[in-house]
Amino acid sequence: MAKLLEGKPIAEKIKEEIKQQIQSLGKKPVLASIMVGENAGAEAYVRSQKKTAEGLGIEYQFHKLGQDTKEDAFIDFIEKLNADKSIDGIIIQMPLPAQIEYKKISQFIAPEKDVEGLHPFNIGRIVFGKANILPCTAASVMELLNSTGLDLYGREVVIVGHSEIVGKPLSLLLLDKFATVTVCHIGTSKAGKLEEHVRGAEILIVAVGKAGLIKGEWIKEGAVVIDVGINRIGDKIVGDVEFEGAEKRASYITPVPGGVGPLTVTMLMRNLIEAVKLKNRGAEK
Ligand code: NDP
Repeated sequence: MAKLLEGKPIAEKIKEEIKQQIQSLGKKPVLASIMVGENAGAEAYVRSQKKTAEGLGIEYQFHKLGQDTKEDAFIDFIEKLNADKSIDGIIIQMPLPAQIEYKKISQFIAPEKDVEGLHPFNIGRIVFGKANILPCTAASVMELLNSTGLDLYGREVVIVGHSEIVGKPLSLLLLDKFATVTVCHIGTSKAGKLEEHVRGAEILIVAVGKAGLIKGEWIKEGAVVIDVGINRIGDKIVGDVEFEGAEKRASYITPVPGGVGPLTVTMLMRNLIEAVKLKNRGAEK
């Protein structure tokens, strides 16, 4: 039976490190959060970010723009925050209204304030093995893997899902550790090859958003399984991997909820501290 890989204890440990680092920064870090319009889910997420930030000694500055805000006006607002020297990091809350395209506007955040780690500058640094600020979900997965103590060198890692926020950056981070990385996506499934790849995985990371996509019996004996997926089935939240079958075969498995999720906000705060440290010492380019 697999050991559970829970995010909370790792997050608590990292939070303690963050608190100590804040004391040596010489200033209270400031995180600016922008939300456009009304959304109950995003508001709950903002409350949880604010609570985490304030618990660590971070100032959480919340900005709410009207539902009808035009893209140009939003970009002007971001540029105002970029120019404000008191602000160390900027985060844009999802979802955004239809008239604002996240991929476009997120590129206007100054890379040194991009605490979500999604600006092309920060993604580009991953390619060169020089990342300071990592996309939060990918960083959370790396922390979970790290907590197993497993050496990634030469391991067969299979990632299912190739999004910009999870699968793509993870594939680069794992390559950097000399894992043998296979990235599966919709094309893999359509070619009927998903099961074959998953069966060969010593480490399996799934980030798709389809409940039950990965069957329990596909899991290799002793594999490490990280399930990033979040799917709401009635009043239950489940991942992309059939948990009951998988936990009988895996050596480690993340619960959903409780695995990756509790770590992502902590990674955001860690990125903020990294941003302040980089500013203090002048970023090496
Ligand atoms: P995206 O929708 O951006 O990406 C999903 C990926 O899965 C795409 O690469 C897609 O391929 C691929 N895919 C879709 N269907 C299949 C299939 N049948 N077989 C193989 N691959 C498939 O999602 P995100 O990366 O943003 O999120 C993925 C999941 O992780 C979601 O459930 C999300 O809620 C969750 N999540 C959880 C977080 C946490 O903190 N725990 C944080 C972020 C995300 P293609 O694009 O080619 O169709």
